[in-house]
Amino acid sequence: MLLRDATLVDGAGVRRGDLRIAEGRIEDAGDLSARCDESVVDLSGHAVLPGLVDAHVHFSLSGERTVEEVVGMSDAELALVEARNARKTLAAGVTGARVMGARDVDVHVRDRIDSGDIPGPRTVANCRSITATGGHGHHLGREITGADDARRAVREQAKQGADFIKFMVTGGVTTPGSDPGAVALTDAEVEAIVDEAHRRGLHAATHAHGAEGVKSAVAAGVDTVEHGTLLDAEAIDMLARADVTLVPTLSAPHRIVRNVEAATEEDRAKTEAVYDRHLDSFARAVEAGVRVAGGTDAGTPFNMHGTNATELLLMHEHGLDPLEAIVAMTETAAETVGLADQGTLEQGTHADLLVVGADPTEDLAAVTDPGAVLKGGAVVAGADERTKRAIADAGGNESARGDE
Ligand SMILES: [Zn+2]
Repeated sequence: MLLRDATLVDGAGVRRGDLRIAEGRIEDAGDLSARCDESVVDLSGHAVLPGLVDAHVHFSLSGERTVEEVVGMSDAELALVEARNARKTLAAGVTGARVMGARDVDVHVRDRIDSGDIPGPRTVANCRSITATGGHGHHLGREITGADDARRAVREQAKQGADFIKFMVTGGVTTPGSDPGAVALTDAEVEAIVDEAHRRGLHAATHAHGAEGVKSAVAAGVDTVEHGTLLDAEAIDMLARADVTLVPTLSAPHRIVRNVEAATEEDRAKTEAVYDRHLDSFARAVEAGVRVAGGTDAGTPFNMHGTNATELLLMHEHGLDPLEAIVAMTETAAETVGLADQGTLEQGTHADLLVVGADPTEDLAAVTDPGAVLKGGAVVAGADERTKRAIADAGGNESARGDE
């Protein structure tokens, strides 16, 4: 199948060109001529970019006001909810995701997506996020006390099939009584978690709002910092020097601030207290050259699965140009979370693509409503029936999964 005459957009820039799709991958990209028996789809007037990669989502959460409802679910209920949220995520054009786990369910959802049993993005997952006893997210996480227990917790997640390790170095917004600015783990616990993760070839991600927690995690060699809400100059400098990736999750506070009437009193107060500083931290980190990967924290209060692309608009509004925002939520996110062959339009990558009606570097909002979403060269979702049908008729219809 040849997708012809599109505006191609990825980390290599914006150019006119064609994509040849075969066996689920981009076989060739550039100025191509059709083979005699090849089906051709004319995409002039459309742009093609890699499917989005969301570096921070929670399939276990669905935008509830509180996590209590989720805590009360059986594993079976939770798995069904996660399957639904995975489907919504893919339908919105997210073809790759790093999923922050709850209990041990997420790795099974990942495996069922991989095997084709349920629709969803290509996924890397952990099991239980590691937190201090009684700390942020303890309801669904693995509580630890002490460095030996921290190592044991990492080994448990690895044994269960985790692709990475997540830990909560500070308190959080959505756990009652937890202070987002406060450090929750000792340096020895943090060092043990990161070291044990790396020994097993797993990357380590930390939830971190306060600057001291960020510094503790960066000093221990963490790979990604999630949120980075209250960064000071020293924390930003450490992130830049150590080449740690920041996943700013601007959508999370944005959604709470936009739904203040419905939010819990505690969530509202905590978020309003730090929202401006979060935006300022992000802008200063960008200015300092910290690497950014796009992640939404989808599933947190009012932060609905399927609205992931809004993160692009927020990252653009607060510091990245449109192409930088796209790269942050495609190529950089894919590299950061360990999703191979994804996030670019290069030869050999998965044909996970968004077809949109305008050049997104001129109209970034076009990405929020893709005309067609392809995973592995097959149409799985999209709003532009004509384009979807044209691609499906040309051979991009091996799978109808993911939509409706
Ligand atoms: Zn999160």
